[in-house]
Amino acid sequence: MSHPSKTVREANSIIHASEEKHVAVRLYDLHIHSSCSDGRLAVEAVVQLAVNAGLTGFSLTDHDTVSGLARAKECADASGLVFIPGLELNTDYVDDEVHILGFFINPEHPELNLKLADLKAKRKQRARLIVDRLNELGFSMDFERVRAVAGDKVIGRPHIARTMVECGFAATEKEAFDRYIGRGQPAFVPRYSFTPEEAIKIIIDSGGLPFLAHPGKIRDQAIIPALVQMGLCGLEVYYPEHSEDEIHRFLELAEYHGLLVSGGSDFHGPGSGEKREMLGLSYIEEDGFQRILEYLKGKRD
Ligand code: AMP
Ligand code: FE
Ligand code: FE
Ligand code: ZN
Repeated sequence: MSHPSKTVREANSIIHASEEKHVAVRLYDLHIHSSCSDGRLAVEAVVQLAVNAGLTGFSLTDHDTVSGLARAKECADASGLVFIPGLELNTDYVDDEVHILGFFINPEHPELNLKLADLKAKRKQRARLIVDRLNELGFSMDFERVRAVAGDKVIGRPHIARTMVECGFAATEKEAFDRYIGRGQPAFVPRYSFTPEEAIKIIIDSGGLPFLAHPGKIRDQAIIPALVQMGLCGLEVYYPEHSEDEIHRFLELAEYHGLLVSGGSDFHGPGSGEKREMLGLSYIEEDGFQRILEYLKGKRD
């Protein structure tokens, strides 16, 4: 079984040490961000780290964008890695942020691309409103500075947090969230309306499989059955911030609802906060990946 606190290399070396034959386990990290959204590294650098970590395959799951997928596939093909096109859609449900991962989506699906273009524009408007609020709170901050941090990519609150740190308004990005831009804080601006139901539907319509990202971060976990009713087909059980207890609970929940199991590091690159800096920190093994492939094949046949 996958272990969330071992790196891919450690897991492989343990297996090497405990087996007579030197057979490396095949591991897949199915939750990785690049600078196409709020990750710090370009796609090329991310794929190189996936190679260095000794992974068999990975999914690039940038927030609300598929713009890195074509390049990621080229790099993965050139490196002999299995590539799973993915994305992470950030939605809101009751009082919770619900992030839905979509694996095996068709990045060229027209409706998906229309929706993503709309989200990108709305994210920019929201970022402007957050910066306005910060200015009202007395921080002199220019939106162009946030834009420079985000580049032409999908803007998220992490870019604003990074800008606040650069300007000396917060010591860390976490502090920026905890004191100013996190939910319930004075410069928090609610997201444009985007529900998990819509996200799940658009992932399914574009040929993908919707999974609930990091269920341990959901405050009211009683909402999970409602998400299953909406068509969710898997849970991200293996995640760096999930405790052993949570992992067991989510495995049982997945079994109870007949859901698939995924795992990934939520890598965002160096400087993004302890647990998000190591690609391959959480993963699934070959058997779990094959179950996902079989399910996908069953859906497409
Ligand atoms: P957005 O989609 O623009 O609302 O930003 C959501 C992203 O902000 C999440 O995917 C996390 O990466 C990050 N985030 C949310 N809350 C926090 C927090 N309290 N501390 C650090 N990062 C956070
Ligand atoms: Fe993120
Ligand atoms: Fe997330
Ligand atoms: Zn993520």
